Amino acid sequence: MLAEIRGQRPAVPGFGWTMWLLVTVVFAASEVWVVHFEFRREAQTISLSEIPLLLGLIFLAPREVMAAQLIGAAPILLFHRRQVLLKLVFNLAQLALSVGVAAAVYHATLGADVLGPPGWLSAVLGTTTGSVVGVVSVAAAISLSEGRLTLSKWLPVMSFSLGGTFANTCLALVVAVLVTHDSRAAALMLVPAAAVYLAYRAYTRERQKTERIEFLYNSGRTLAGSGANESGIVTLLREALTMFRAEMAQVTLTVGAAGSVEARTTVRGDDVSEEDRPVESAGSRGLLERVMAMDRGLIIAHGGRDEQERALLADRDLRDAMLTSLKSDNRVIGTILIGNRLGAATTFAVDDVALLDTLATQVGAAVENARLERVLHHQAFHDSLTNLGNRGLFARRLQEALDRPDPHVAVLMIDIDDFKAVNDRLGHPAGDQLLVRVAKRLAQTVRGADTASRLGGDEFAVLAEDIAEPDDAIAAAQRMLGAFDQPYEVAGHELRVRASVGVATNLDFPTDGSSLLMQADVAMYRAKRTRTVSGGYCLFESSMQEEVAEHHALREDLQLALERGELTNFYQPLVELETGRVIGTEALVRWNHRHRGLVVPAYFIRVAEESGLILELGRWVLREACRQLREWHREFPSGAPLKVSVNLSAVQLRQPGFVDDVVRILQETDLDPRHLTLEITESTFMEDSRTAIARLRELRGLGVRLELDDFGTGYSSLSILRDLPLDGLKIDKSFVDSIRDVADRPAFLQAIVRLAQALDLDMIGEGIEQQVQADALFAMGCRRGQGYLFFRPQPAEVVTDFLRQQADRDSAEGGSVVQMPLRRHSDR
Ligand code: C2E
Ligand code: MG
Ligand code: MG
Repeated sequence: MLAEIRGQRPAVPGFGWTMWLLVTVVFAASEVWVVHFEFRREAQTISLSEIPLLLGLIFLAPREVMAAQLIGAAPILLFHRRQVLLKLVFNLAQLALSVGVAAAVYHATLGADVLGPPGWLSAVLGTTTGSVVGVVSVAAAISLSEGRLTLSKWLPVMSFSLGGTFANTCLALVVAVLVTHDSRAAALMLVPAAAVYLAYRAYTRERQKTERIEFLYNSGRTLAGSGANESGIVTLLREALTMFRAEMAQVTLTVGAAGSVEARTTVRGDDVSEEDRPVESAGSRGLLERVMAMDRGLIIAHGGRDEQERALLADRDLRDAMLTSLKSDNRVIGTILIGNRLGAATTFAVDDVALLDTLATQVGAAVENARLERVLHHQAFHDSLTNLGNRGLFARRLQEALDRPDPHVAVLMIDIDDFKAVNDRLGHPAGDQLLVRVAKRLAQTVRGADTASRLGGDEFAVLAEDIAEPDDAIAAAQRMLGAFDQPYEVAGHELRVRASVGVATNLDFPTDGSSLLMQADVAMYRAKRTRTVSGGYCLFESSMQEEVAEHHALREDLQLALERGELTNFYQPLVELETGRVIGTEALVRWNHRHRGLVVPAYFIRVAEESGLILELGRWVLREACRQLREWHREFPSGAPLKVSVNLSAVQLRQPGFVDDVVRILQETDLDPRHLTLEITESTFMEDSRTAIARLRELRGLGVRLELDDFGTGYSSLSILRDLPLDGLKIDKSFVDSIRDVADRPAFLQAIVRLAQALDLDMIGEGIEQQVQADALFAMGCRRGQGYLFFRPQPAEVVTDFLRQQADRDSAEGGSVVQMPLRRHSDR
C-alpha cells in the first residue's frame, strides 16, 4: 500500500506550499478543538480532522498529507494534551495508519471527475475506511490494556464516529469545490466548521450531563437500599470508577481535630481493600489535611510541581487523581480520592471535580450512618460503663460454647461484697469508678479464649471453656478472686473490696445456658453467706438444687401476686426541659412482696415474660395507668392534658388479641387514645419484625403514640427504624451518662439526635441525674426529659399531691400549667 501511495500525485494539483501549510495548521487546530466523547467506559475523541485530511487528499500528494498531519498533530498531543511517550507514539502511528488507508482507498477508487459526484463517493469511501481503522485500532488497544473486548460497547462509538466522519467529509468537499473557484472562500468555511464543532460539543455535554444526573440518582439509591453500611460504600466507589472512568477510588476517614487517619477503603479495579490506621507519608498527610480545609476538591495532574501532590501520587502509585473532602453536617470526616483516569482525555476536568464534590456529600452521610450503626451494634452487646460484654453477649457466647461438640464449660459469677456501702459512702460516681477498675482487672485475669462480661450492677460473669475437671474451674475462681487482693484506688481513697464467686460447670450432667447461669448465681450467694468457710468461692453442687427450685417458685409467686393484687404502679413524671413543666408520667410496675418488700421490675419481668404471665401483668398495668390518668384529668382539668406512658413487652405485642385489649381498656377507662403512649424496645423487632410492625401500625391507627425506649441499647438496624411507625425515641441513660458538661456533645449522642431529627421523631432524655445533662440535651435539641434530677418513680398518691400543689400555685399565678419547682433553664 505504501509503495502505491508513495508515488501518488495530488488529485487536483497546483496549490503547492500554501495549501500544505493550511492543511498542517488545520490538522493542528482540529487536535486542539476536539470533543471528548466519554460516557461511562466508552471513550472516543471526535475531531474535525477529516476536513484537513480530505483537503489534503484532494490538493496534496498522500505523503505530503501524512507529513502535514504528523507535523500538525505531534506538538499538540505532546504539549497541549501532555500525552506520555507511549500514548503519543501509539496515537501518531494510528493517525498515520488511518491517513494511509484513507489515501489508498481514495486514490484507488478515484476517477476523472474529482470534484463531481463520483469523486465525492471516493472521498466518503476513503475517509470512512480511515475512520473505521482508527476506531478499531483504539478499541483494540484499550481492550488489550484493560483486558476485555466487548463489541457491543464499541458499536455505538463506531456509529457516532462514522456520523461525524460523514458530516466532516461533506463539509470538506464543499470547501474543496469552492476553493477551486476562489481560494478566498476557504475563510468563509470557518464559520460552518466552527458551528459543526459547537454542535458536537453541545450534544456530548448534554448527554454527559444526563449520565451524571443518572449516576447521582443511582448512587443515592444504592446507599438507601444498602441500609447505609460499608458494602454500600464499596458499591458506590465501584460506580464512581465507571462514571469517572478511573482505575482507583479511595475513601479515607479521619478522627479528631488532628485529623489522624482512622480507616481507609480502596477499590482498585476489581480489588477491594480495607485498612485500619494506614501509614501515611508526611507529604500525603499534608495534602489530605489541606483538602479537608477546602470547600471544593482539586485535580492532581501528572507531573505537577507541588511536593505534597507528588508524594500522594507516588504513595498510591497513581498518574493523576482528584481529591475532595467528605463532609457530614458541615463536619469534615475524611476524603475521597479518584485516581488514574483511563481513556482519551488527559486527566480529570473541572466538571469531574464538581460531580465528585456532590458525590462526596452522599458518601459522607452514608459513612456517618455506617458509623452510627457500628456504634449501636457495639452498644447492644457491651456495657457502656466498663466496655466489657453485657448479658446479651454473655448469653450468646455461652450458647455458642454449649453448641460445640462435647462442650466443657464453666460459668463463674462474680459479685462484689458490700458494693452498696461504697455507693452510699462515696457516692455513685465513685461506685462507677470502682466497677470500671474491677472490670479492667477481671479482663486482665481471664485467659484469651474466655469471656468476661458485666451482667448488671456489681455482678460480673466469666465464661471459661475447655474445663477438663472441676479443679480447673476452681482454679479459675481463685484467679478471679486474685483480682481483689490489691486495694483499688477510687476517688482518692484506697478501697479494699472483696468479692464472691459462684461456679457452675456442665461436667457432671448436661445443662443449658440459663440453668448454668442460675446455678452459678445460687453458688455465688452460697459463697457470700458462708464466706469464712468458703474463702469467697463456691462450686455448685446438686444439693443446692433446692435453691434453684426457689427461682422456679418465683413464677408461682408472681401468679399469686397477680391474683392477690400485690402489684402496684409507680409513676415517674416526664418534664419539658425548657420550663420544667410536667407533661406526663411513665407507669413503672412494682411488686409489693409479702417478705421482700417493694420489688423492682428487674427481679420479675423476665420471669413474667418467660412464663407468659406478662400478658396478664401487662393488661393490669395498662388498665391501671389509664384509670389513674383519667382520674388526674378529672381532678386537674385545666391546662394541656397529662399523658401516660406504659411499657410494652415484645411478648405482648406478639399476642394476636393485643390491639383489641388496648381498645377495650381505652373504652372502659374512657381515655382519649392520644393521651396514651406505648413504649417498646428494640428487642421487639429481633424476631418477626413484620408482625410487630403491622401491630404497631394498628395501634397508631387508634391514635395511640408510640415511642422507642432505651434507644441505642438494643440492636435495630437503621433501616428498620425508618420503617417503624414511631412518634418518639427515648435516649437511653447510658448515653445521657456520657455527658460531662454542657458544651460536651458526645459523638454518638450527637449522631442519635441527628438521626431522630432526620426521621422527625420526638426525643426524651432518660435517666437525667444532673443539671448539666438536662442543659446539654436541651442545647442539642431534645425537648423532654425524665430522671432522678426531676423525680424518682413515686406512688400515684405522691404524684397526685404534687400535681395538686402545682395546680394551686398555677391558679394563684394565673397560669394553667403544672410547674416544677426547678430553676428555669437559661436560654442559651
Ligand atoms: P424503662 O422503661 O427504661 O424505665 C426507666 C427506668 O429507669 C425505671 O426503672 C426508672 O426507675 C429508672 N430511672 C428513671 N430515672 C432514673 C435516673 O435518673 N437514674 C437512674 N439510675 N434510674 C432512673 P425501673 O422502674 O426499675 O424499671 C426498669 C425497667 O423495667 C423499665 O425500664 C421497663 O423496661 C421495665 N418495666 C417497668 N414497668 C414495666 C411494665 O409495666 N411492663 C413491662 N413490660 N416492663 C416494665
Ligand atoms: Mg420505659
Ligand atoms: Mg428506658
